[in-house]
Amino acid sequence: MIPEIDVMKCNGCMICVRACPVGIIGMFAKKAVMLRDLCEECGICAFSCPEVAIYYELEDTKSLNTYTAAFPTAKRLDAILGQKGEK
Ligand code: SF4
Ligand code: SF4
Repeated sequence: MIPEIDVMKCNGCMICVRACPVGIIGMFAKKAVMLRDLCEECGICAFSCPEVAIYYELEDTKSLNTYTAAFPTAKRLDAILGQKGEK
């Protein structure tokens, strides 16, 4: 499924923006928004959100496995933490 963002829960931290492997999440009015038509339905944005503001129901593990293989957790975390100036 394509994830749903609850804008009332979103705090604008942008972690999902950095976590999306295809780069289709951006910010509007300090809230996360996504280009739904381009979503690959991997669910990574939902798993990365610390506010549980993105609802995603895993239908099967195929797409998630594809993306976790291509973007290992450590690599994604590096991308997120790198924004704080860590090397
Ligand atoms: S990770 Fe969650 S709280 Fe942070 S910008 Fe994305 S939706 Fe909002
Ligand atoms: S489900 Fe995957 S492709 Fe779609 S917005 Fe979230 S991280 Fe990006």
